[in-house]
Amino acid sequence: MSPHAPLDTLTFDLDDTLWDNRPVMEHAEKGHYAWLDESLAAWHGTHLDRQGRYSERFPLSAYQARRLELAQRVPLRRGDFTWIREQALTELLEEYGLPRSAARMWAAAAIDRFLDLRHRLSPYPEVAALLENLRGRYRLAAITNGNADLTRLPLATHFPVTIAAGEMLAPKPDARPFLAALARLGSIPSRALHVGDSWREDVLPASRLGMRVAWIDIHDDPERALPAGVYRLRHVRELPDLLNRLGSLSSD
Ligand SMILES: [Mg+2]
Repeated sequence: MSPHAPLDTLTFDLDDTLWDNRPVMEHAEKGHYAWLDESLAAWHGTHLDRQGRYSERFPLSAYQARRLELAQRVPLRRGDFTWIREQALTELLEEYGLPRSAARMWAAAAIDRFLDLRHRLSPYPEVAALLENLRGRYRLAAITNGNADLTRLPLATHFPVTIAAGEMLAPKPDARPFLAALARLGSIPSRALHVGDSWREDVLPASRLGMRVAWIDIHDDPERALPAGVYRLRHVRELPDLLNRLGSLSSD
């Protein structure tokens, strides 16, 4: 793949690339489900005595199992995590005894709560300055399978293009979100580098398209053989050094 054309475009995964997503999701997962349970008890307590408390009939593990089952039952929507959540909640609430209209209303309210909690996140401290710096030299896009809505985060100002791959029903490793980002930026794979933590969803598809890849190896997997054009970083803060090295290696 060498010599390479100079890079003019960077695409970024979000979750676990620009912030540590595990505590964010744990908090959001437990938080919105507890909110739903408490709110139902407050609103429907006397009417639903016979059913028992919602969380006793459907603990968090039942909600998680229903999501997995739904993703298999409706494979087209398997990457649209927000839809999966809302549909799973609607089904469980109906099974709990709510009429469909009430089940839908409570599911939608719980999802609002989830999305609110899910966006209470802190990017790594270096990220804002890093993107600010790169923005002057590269075209930037965000490509995420997750349901982080960049427009709800201050980081949005750095990304002229954002692709929510799950909602376009073509989650990574599908090549289409990468191609859509590059097309919207007016770039091509040989001039672009993708930055992401997932071997399956970031590294393999971007590399197959002919993009270069900065793999954020948060799982510390030093034994893995790297294809040509794939570079292993331990943290996104190491990206400028990599770009400097690649700049000095480019063919012109
Ligand atoms: Mg990720």
